[in-house]
Amino acid sequence: MGATDLERAPEPTDRTMPVIDLERVSKVYRSGSLQVKAVDDVTLGIRDGEYVAITGPSGSGKSTMMHILGCLDVATDGTYRLAGQDVGTMSEDELAAVRNQRVGFVFQQFNLLPSLPAWRNVELPLVYAGMPRAHRRERAIAALERVGLAGRVDHRPGELSGGQQQRVAVARALVGDPSLILADEPTGNLDTSSTADVLGLFDELHTAGRTVVVITHESDVAARAQRVIRMRDGRIVEDTGAAPGAYPAESAGETVRLAHSVPADAAATPASGLGWFLPRVGLADPAADAASGPAADDPRHPEGPR
Ligand code: ADP
Ligand code: MG
Repeated sequence: MGATDLERAPEPTDRTMPVIDLERVSKVYRSGSLQVKAVDDVTLGIRDGEYVAITGPSGSGKSTMMHILGCLDVATDGTYRLAGQDVGTMSEDELAAVRNQRVGFVFQQFNLLPSLPAWRNVELPLVYAGMPRAHRRERAIAALERVGLAGRVDHRPGELSGGQQQRVAVARALVGDPSLILADEPTGNLDTSSTADVLGLFDELHTAGRTVVVITHESDVAARAQRVIRMRDGRIVEDTGAAPGAYPAESAGETVRLAHSVPADAAATPASGLGWFLPRVGLADPAADAASGPAADDPRHPEGPR
């Protein structure tokens, strides 16, 4: 694994300020007369460089939290400041730029484009960022080397194992050098050894100074983080990092073991219908964009996301 970018120190930032700052944030989904408060009055600060696991049973609001944190969706109430900027006041273009530049996303289903070789999947965020083609290829191949896939750059996803596909997805998440890595059940479809590989990559990203937020219902995955936040019914019911201001850097080194086992919710994680997601995180095939656009086929998002 190359030592270059992964080990490069992040830009100096004020570590006394939370990079993620949620103040009384709620997200209400309405379909007809039915209302679901998927995130319910959450106040939460995550500091630059923290490695946080968000855990909890199925339906507790973890994915909704990830959508909010990654600016894929906007809170219905409360304030979300990302690196000091109020996300609620941003235009759709500004949100897209934040997603593209600040955040690297990893999903349970990998969300790779099956028709493209690995390196072309990895370069997609750079296409959206407007980087010249030659640089993109170079960066994509370097990112694939970093995740141990130097020998697979021309393989299509179907020619790779699940673990390799997820490593391609991690390469795609880090190719744009984002400060925040957001992963939703990244090991949910992986065997033990691939899980270890992917968690090892997250450890490296964290060591290199990235803020890493991993959503998982697996207690052994959560135990890799420095801080575990447990959700239930849209609320935070446990936070080993305690209140904002109460987790100075020195206390951030301990590994936390969850005493309880967390119910598995892999079956309830939306397995398909993520078509709308991909263009929003700069992951759609630019050539296919005009044809498909943000998909309206997700039954959970009948009118598409806002
Ligand atoms: P988790 O990821 O913890 O399983 P989610 O964030 O996916 O939880 O869902 C939290 C709650 O919000 C659930 O009750 C779920 O059914 C509901 N929900 C999630 N997304 C939508 C949506 N787009 N429309 C309506 N309800 C939703
Ligand atoms: Mg989920």
